[in-house]
Amino acid sequence: MKVCLLSGGTGTPKLIQGLKKIMPEEDISVIVNTGEDTWVGDLYLSPDVDTVLYTFSDLINEETWYGVKNDTFITHETLKKYESKDFKEFLKIGDRDRALKMHKTHYIKKGYPLSKIIEMESRMLSIKGKIYPMTDDNVETKILIEERDGDDKNRILLKFHDFWIKRRGRVERVLDIFYENSNYARGTDGALNAIENSDLIIIGPSNPITSIGPILSIRDIKRALSNKIIFAVSPIVGDGAISGPAGMLMEAKGYPVNIYGVYKYYGDLINTLIIDKRDNIEDKIKNIKCNIVATNIIMDNLNSKINLAREIIKHYNS
Ligand code: GDP
Repeated sequence: MKVCLLSGGTGTPKLIQGLKKIMPEEDISVIVNTGEDTWVGDLYLSPDVDTVLYTFSDLINEETWYGVKNDTFITHETLKKYESKDFKEFLKIGDRDRALKMHKTHYIKKGYPLSKIIEMESRMLSIKGKIYPMTDDNVETKILIEERDGDDKNRILLKFHDFWIKRRGRVERVLDIFYENSNYARGTDGALNAIENSDLIIIGPSNPITSIGPILSIRDIKRALSNKIIFAVSPIVGDGAISGPAGMLMEAKGYPVNIYGVYKYYGDLINTLIIDKRDNIEDKIKNIKCNIVATNIIMDNLNSKINLAREIIKHYNS
């Protein structure tokens, strides 16, 4: 059996760790969000892609869900000493993590498509799973916020990185979220083939608005997904996200922050919604028209990741 996941950089990678333990890694494909890709100083960052690369190669720092575990920061600390008005070290990036980012930057500057670079890096990291960026085009997630300045209200369009890393999500009001250029973007061949050749598509428990939304905004990916068997795992338990800004962004888009909101967001696309067993709340469930599987979806250790992976495959086979 072959599965294909749609992924961001925290919730779904936890599920990938579980799947990796119960099925051959080569049967797992992952289509990764690149809407948060950005340049920081001289480095090209593809945060979700790097997290998925580190997840498959067992290098991921599970405290933060970015970067390499037990990394050192000698380059970062040294660069800090050389800072001046024109030369800034913007982000705390570990030495080993920086090496991967330098590799990506080198080939991006040479004009290689991201999908090709990921293929090289997967080989170098001995990864057997298949990792595809959603697109090789430049689709950028932008957050429109409103801020008061005296009696005036200013609207500012932020890159995701500026919203979440620079401002730490502390903004007065989010008005909307856009996926810039997605109308013109094409899905990568790898991503489209992976969808076609997989038995089961899993929309992992990633942020619907900033991780899954950008992937679904690409028309040929959305088209490829129609008529496939698709399960979605809720990233929301109770009335909040387990981590990150999903709640605030779902609200801004007009979706309730609960399992019904997740269902409404994915709508007809999904056959099955996997929710937390503690979230079995009648009034929300009665409005959900797809299959529901209620189980433990909080993946706080390897056992819970494996159990959730098993539950998903068991439900598919039943
Ligand atoms: P990002 O790229 O770092 O924003 O990461 P993702 O979009 O992949 O993941 C963020 C989402 O994962 C958040 O909405 C969390 O609620 C969800 N999440 C994190 N850990 C878990 C977990 O253990 N179980 C579930 N169901 N969701 C989780």
